[in-house]
Amino acid sequence: MIDIQHLTKKFGKHTILKDINGTVKKGQVICIIGPSGVGKSTFLRCLNHLETPTDGTVVFEGKKMEGLSEKEIQKIREKMGMVFQSFNLFPNKTVLQNVKLAPEKVKKMPDEKANQLAHKLLKDVGLDEKADAYPASLSGGQQQRVAIARALAMTPDVMLFDEPTSALDPEMVGEVLKVMQHLADQGMTMVVVTHEMGFAKNVADQIWFMADSGIQEKAAPSEFFSNPQTDRAKEFLHKIL
Ligand code: ATP
Ligand code: MG
Repeated sequence: MIDIQHLTKKFGKHTILKDINGTVKKGQVICIIGPSGVGKSTFLRCLNHLETPTDGTVVFEGKKMEGLSEKEIQKIREKMGMVFQSFNLFPNKTVLQNVKLAPEKVKKMPDEKANQLAHKLLKDVGLDEKADAYPASLSGGQQQRVAIARALAMTPDVMLFDEPTSALDPEMVGEVLKVMQHLADQGMTMVVVTHEMGFAKNVADQIWFMADSGIQEKAAPSEFFSNPQTDRAKEFLHKIL
């Protein structure tokens, strides 16, 4: 579904990502872990070209993204839902309006259909009773679940998560991870940057460990957590586990 070939990203003179290769297959859950500041967010943003790679190629569903017009990239981006650490809901819109906005605006979905879709998605994340509430009246965990529903409203082929639970109070982390686990169980293709090792262990098909401008290890979680191959990964796991 996503093919990453020789991806390099520089900011000025700084090479953040160097010659990264990888494949995300349909239905796979990839968890990206690694120390702070190594370029995990930058990598995720390169996948949907929120950042333009300096070099290399991202192929999404057989289509090479480099060289496409902004309009074509926008079209592809619609197929890639993204959820950030900060929920970024529209504060002056209700929960329901937040969820149905993109399908209505971008896909020109009729109002009634968009309402139905939004209510269904809100039910899926356990928040339909909050449909008419404003984001500010929700907890962080609830807001993040709305953000997930909003991303799903565009029926993406893949979901990109950038530390979706890092900004949450500990007691709210579980409810968001549960929604994500449910999505994975339903077969959604997901790329998840996370510090939640329990989630990575239980839900990921593959761990991609990032350090020193690249992916140092790609392995099944059972393999990675019990038998890391590089010193860099050993050191990282030693620090956090
Ligand atoms: P964290 O775990 O803290 O979220 P990360 O692994 O996601 O870190 P990135 O946010 O991708 O790391 O940042 C990687 C490096 O790139 C950092 O040194 C950061 O300062 C730098 N960087 C990120 N975005 C830009 C930008 N737009 N311009 C210049 N430098 C940037
Ligand atoms: Mg980051």
